[in-house]
Amino acid sequence: MVEERNKGDIKLKQGIIFNIQRYSIHDGPGIRTTVFLKGCPLKCWWCHNPESQLLEEEIVFIKNRCIGCGTCTKVCNNSAIGINNGIIEFAHEKCIMCGKCIEVCTIGAREVAGKRVTVEYVIKEIKKDLIFYDEAGGGVTISGGEPLLQWEFLYELLVRCKEEGIHTTLDTSGFASWEVIEKLTPYIDLFLYDIKLMDDEEHVKYTGISNRIVLDNLKRLSALGKKINARIPIIPGINNGEKNIRGTGEFLSKYNVHQVNILPYHNMAKDKYGRLFKEYKLDNTIEPEMCEMLEIKNTLNGYGLNVKIGG
Ligand code: SF4
Ligand code: SF4
Repeated sequence: MVEERNKGDIKLKQGIIFNIQRYSIHDGPGIRTTVFLKGCPLKCWWCHNPESQLLEEEIVFIKNRCIGCGTCTKVCNNSAIGINNGIIEFAHEKCIMCGKCIEVCTIGAREVAGKRVTVEYVIKEIKKDLIFYDEAGGGVTISGGEPLLQWEFLYELLVRCKEEGIHTTLDTSGFASWEVIEKLTPYIDLFLYDIKLMDDEEHVKYTGISNRIVLDNLKRLSALGKKINARIPIIPGINNGEKNIRGTGEFLSKYNVHQVNILPYHNMAKDKYGRLFKEYKLDNTIEPEMCEMLEIKNTLNGYGLNVKIGG
């Protein structure tokens, strides 16, 4: 049950988001507004939101708009931007986000990813879509990045959503302390919970963290009777092998999992890595065929799971 709170108690906490997406239909039931929080402790090779990873604003460089005029290099007092044979180079660690290079780039080749906002700002945006939530059984999904990284902001946001009677979904990697998750659970109607790899060494290699906390938190949420949709990104050559799929099916079958979504890898985020001067490690990975997705679905169905291809 949602605890009684005095509205005056809600602090004007600031969080950092990188997008608010309206009319979303793949992030939970009905038509939803998805709020993307910035910052993530994982480093998944297939991450399709590389602009979500840092817990701070960052410069996005849209290479195909750049005409190589070099104006941005002249205004940067921190030598963060260089130009080499007409190609713009960027030293992220030197950037202090003063914004001067964005101001002078009149053709819009430089943008900023990330915005600091209050809970009330986000609530005001969310409430614009109240009519859709009521008519289509939708609500709000908080995604990322890993939203649990900004858990105090997330807590206030979830509390305010419940005060407005809005259905809430948390899209999470499950990587946070149990104390944090437990505090938030009364305000979360549905968990979209990522399960990536069952082998811990492989998990560390491809995501940067151990899977122990992730698996343990899922067990605990299940014991609390929370509604959980497990989401498995299917990444060819990384987690699509039979051993991992069977191991995942066996693990999930033991818990109270409402639905399993298998999400085929796609490389649509590749360009975003270039815009952030980040390396994309899956350059040669090919999207899985539908026949492979059906095979994985059948394997998981064999463990008594309700499996859907896609979000
Ligand atoms: S000012 Fe803009 S167009 Fe000119 S070099 Fe810099 S990013 Fe490219
Ligand atoms: S935001 Fe400021 S410090 Fe960062 S690259 Fe642009 S001009 Fe340089």
